[in-house]
Amino acid sequence: MTGDILERTHDLLSELSLTSSDELLETHLEQAAKNETTYADFLHDLLRVETEARRLRQLSTRMKLAHLPFAKSLSQFDFSFQPSIDERQIKELATLGFVHEANNIILLGPPGVGKTHLSVALAVSAISGGYGAYFVSAYDLIADLTEAMRQGRLRKRMAIYLRPKVLVIDEVGYLPMDQMGATIFFQVVAARYERGSIILTSNKSYADWGTFFGDQTIATAILDRLLHHAVTISIRGDSYRLKDRRKAGLTNTRPDAMNTVA
Ligand code: ADP
Ligand code: MG
Repeated sequence: MTGDILERTHDLLSELSLTSSDELLETHLEQAAKNETTYADFLHDLLRVETEARRLRQLSTRMKLAHLPFAKSLSQFDFSFQPSIDERQIKELATLGFVHEANNIILLGPPGVGKTHLSVALAVSAISGGYGAYFVSAYDLIADLTEAMRQGRLRKRMAIYLRPKVLVIDEVGYLPMDQMGATIFFQVVAARYERGSIILTSNKSYADWGTFFGDQTIATAILDRLLHHAVTISIRGDSYRLKDRRKAGLTNTRPDAMNTVA
């Protein structure tokens, strides 16, 4: 009898795609036969195991959909190496109030100081908190949307960058943009304004944005929306990439050395 119910319950659970509690089911039914468990205990445990399994599946799906270049967390960030960063401020941001309020985070600084690492870590926090995130470099964003526009499907393609609650746009300003690129970038920022957060990294200070957007008016319009509800984190310090080389005495001392390690 018990075996029969067990089998039919298995079938029902797989029909509902609730297959994480198989083992639990068997243990419980054994205990039930010995009157060691209540219906309420059983139901609670079954739902707990299935809910947790579903949460982990959704988390893993959101991680895949986010296209992160690597999966690094805040716990892997050595704040002592970068004293210009306020550790408390970053940890406060990781509590995700910014996502809830659709605020932006702008990380500025030279190469190697951890801008991408921190943007990824904050995206991972958002994903763990149940939000969707998407990571893209400014170059790929513009290239992708320019191509979509050429094919007359800009609006549809734009949804990829508008849907997630957190959009990371990495490396803004490394390469100059043409007029079309700047206009498309403006459209993304304007469409997300007060609706979804942007985490943006750049090696250029705001004063230089006119130059790489190729148009001061567009740069001003972009900054106006981007900075209305935003925190700027300016990182000054040494490249983490050069840390070990420096320790080993291998650092290139040419004045342009920093430019070669973007
Ligand atoms: P940026 O985007 O500013 O050029 P990255 O975030 O890509 O720099 O950092 C370069 C590499 O160094 C990455 O592998 C990153 O994980 C690591 N890194 C940078 N800063 C730190 C830090 N303070 N603690 C630990 N790892 C770091
Ligand atoms: Mg980077």
